[in-house]
Amino acid sequence: MVAPNAAPANTPTIIFVSFFMILVIYLLNIFNPQVFLFFSSYKNQSTMKRIFFIDLDNTIYFTKANEEQLMGELYRFLESMDLGISKEDFQLAKQEMLKTPFLKVAKKYGFKEEVMPDVISYLQNREVTKPLKPSDDYHHIKSLIGRKFIVTAGFPKQQLSKVKMLGIADDFEEVHVVDVSIANKKKTFEKLIDQHHLDKNDILIIGDDAESEIKFGLELGITTFLLDPENLHPNAESTFRGNDLSNLHIAAGQASLRPVE
Ligand SMILES: [Mg+2]
Repeated sequence: MVAPNAAPANTPTIIFVSFFMILVIYLLNIFNPQVFLFFSSYKNQSTMKRIFFIDLDNTIYFTKANEEQLMGELYRFLESMDLGISKEDFQLAKQEMLKTPFLKVAKKYGFKEEVMPDVISYLQNREVTKPLKPSDDYHHIKSLIGRKFIVTAGFPKQQLSKVKMLGIADDFEEVHVVDVSIANKKKTFEKLIDQHHLDKNDILIIGDDAESEIKFGLELGITTFLLDPENLHPNAESTFRGNDLSNLHIAAGQASLRPVE
């Protein structure tokens, strides 16, 4: 004999047991890194960056590790001239040239006005002709998925020859060299956004200069990643920062797309 109300009476129990089991499975899985990563990557889809404006000097490669290839000839050329500064100041200026655009250094240390036209024409025509080594972290940039643009300040011939000697030209859609005497990176970023009809929310700016690409990027409302290996800018504003590029994919919302290393 079958009780007529047996099936309807069991329905709430089945629903309750099912719900309870789903809850248990969910609670157990939330501690599973794979599941956690899935939920985080799902969340990141909306903020994933697909356009990258990337600085060159001391971001893609480090000047210190390539000092002789980059600066050897320039140092010898400058030593052959009378810059009107002490030997001690010349040593300090040389160190600063590794990090700061030449014209800024020349102004700071007061290189003689008379020699500047010769120095500038030398720099305008100079090319790096020996291979340069990208930084050990360059693979984090290379493996980002999206459109990549180099935006660098300096003398065009020299900057373009660096890209060539680094062997990375094919990794980038365009290389833009900003002449800092007439423009700055902010204008170049705006021009790129305009020309390519880019959405600022899709862009991540990567660089080591808190006062240039990072500051200008934030002013334009763009997400930034400040690379600061020596902790030179502890108080500088930036959306993301790191003393290396190991967290670049997280900043780009591409953590789940990172290739297995
Ligand atoms: Mg730089």
